[in-house]
Amino acid sequence: MYDLLVKDALIVTCNPEHSVIDGAVMAVRDGKIALIAPAQSDVSGTLEAKNYISAKGKMVLPGLINMHCHAGDSLFRGLVENLPLEAWLNRVWIAEKAILTPHTTYLGSVLGFAENLLSGVTSVMDMFWYPHEAVRAAQMLGMRVSTGGLFFDFPGIGERSHEKYIEEAREFSSSYSGSTDVFPCVMPHGAYTVSPEHLKDAKSIANADGGLFCTHAAETRAEQADIQNRYGRTVIRHLDAYDLLGERTVLAHCVHVDDGEIDLMAKSGTTVVHNPMSNLKLASGIAPTAQMQKAGVHLTLGTDGAISGNDLDMWLAMRLASSLAKGVAMEPAALPAKDVLHMATLNGARALGQEKHLGSLEVGKQADFIFVDVNTAHAVPLFDPITHCVFGAGRSDVSDVFVAGEQVVKDRRLTRHDLSETLIEVQDLMPAIKSSLEDA
Ligand SMILES: [Zn+2]
Repeated sequence: MYDLLVKDALIVTCNPEHSVIDGAVMAVRDGKIALIAPAQSDVSGTLEAKNYISAKGKMVLPGLINMHCHAGDSLFRGLVENLPLEAWLNRVWIAEKAILTPHTTYLGSVLGFAENLLSGVTSVMDMFWYPHEAVRAAQMLGMRVSTGGLFFDFPGIGERSHEKYIEEAREFSSSYSGSTDVFPCVMPHGAYTVSPEHLKDAKSIANADGGLFCTHAAETRAEQADIQNRYGRTVIRHLDAYDLLGERTVLAHCVHVDDGEIDLMAKSGTTVVHNPMSNLKLASGIAPTAQMQKAGVHLTLGTDGAISGNDLDMWLAMRLASSLAKGVAMEPAALPAKDVLHMATLNGARALGQEKHLGSLEVGKQADFIFVDVNTAHAVPLFDPITHCVFGAGRSDVSDVFVAGEQVVKDRRLTRHDLSETLIEVQDLMPAIKSSLEDA
């Protein structure tokens, strides 16, 4: 007896072979995928389950994995516009400092994670203040999160000393070690805001608990020039000099990297998170993804926060990633849809160290899956489901979301939380958020 049987499914597995199975049945038991079988197979008519659901007219995909987000910053969406990264960050930090408490961080995290979940994202890597609040929000909604202690060289929210940053990062990492829905990460902001010594402190905390290390890297030309001036080398070489690259390292952006730096990232197994929408809107540039892919860099995809993007839309990120790579290289075969879909699923799982459990629909993995409506004007006829995922589908097509077999989005609504409560509370906070920048 299975817990759930999904019938009539057009399954885009996102497995290493990019298999697509039409008219399949998928069985779930104890939160995991117990069976996937073609409709015409001997077993499909005889399976028994406590619950049945028809996926007729839908594609079934693994939950997407957004590898770079600042969910709490959803409180500040649209507040700071038309500035380059550095000037923009200075304004954002003023607003964050005025507004953020553990409670408002929770509120912003619920908002940001709800946007992710409703668009089919089931796992997020999130960098923000008060990471326990992000965990609380993610667990309340029923999704997975990778987060942990943030590091800056300046005191930041809550006037933290470096010792305090270390203590908090340690405490967080050890409290979620071995968890199946929280993947601890240590998150120094960047090489231009955190000294080499402090970056090393962060890495040693990640190493001690087998956790991840994530930082922003090589996002803008100004950052490259700053690191070059201060340390006499480029950003990725600077990180390499302190032994900060490797399979447990996740670098967000990597827009301005040369051939040697791409080589360093490929050889060390470092993960790069491509955030095309954020990079375009902040006018940071276009990451050389096709070149990185050719060199063997492990590529994943992210939205960045809603203050740069200005939304958290992985479908837009997929479409931009493939289109930009093709357009820049003037090569229509560059970064094809199947590889971009992997960037948003299986590659993210590998980056999180969860490739045995997440990122594709395969027997034995967690039952994190989504339904995407394909009975629509923009999907019929559907000759190529994988291409449709990247170039035709959008987040409003996501109708249902399951995490570990539990339905957490049903008919485009959260099942565990009444979002209107959060929206009212955020509306009430709006005047304070707006006035936080009035004298700045
Ligand atoms: Zn970021």
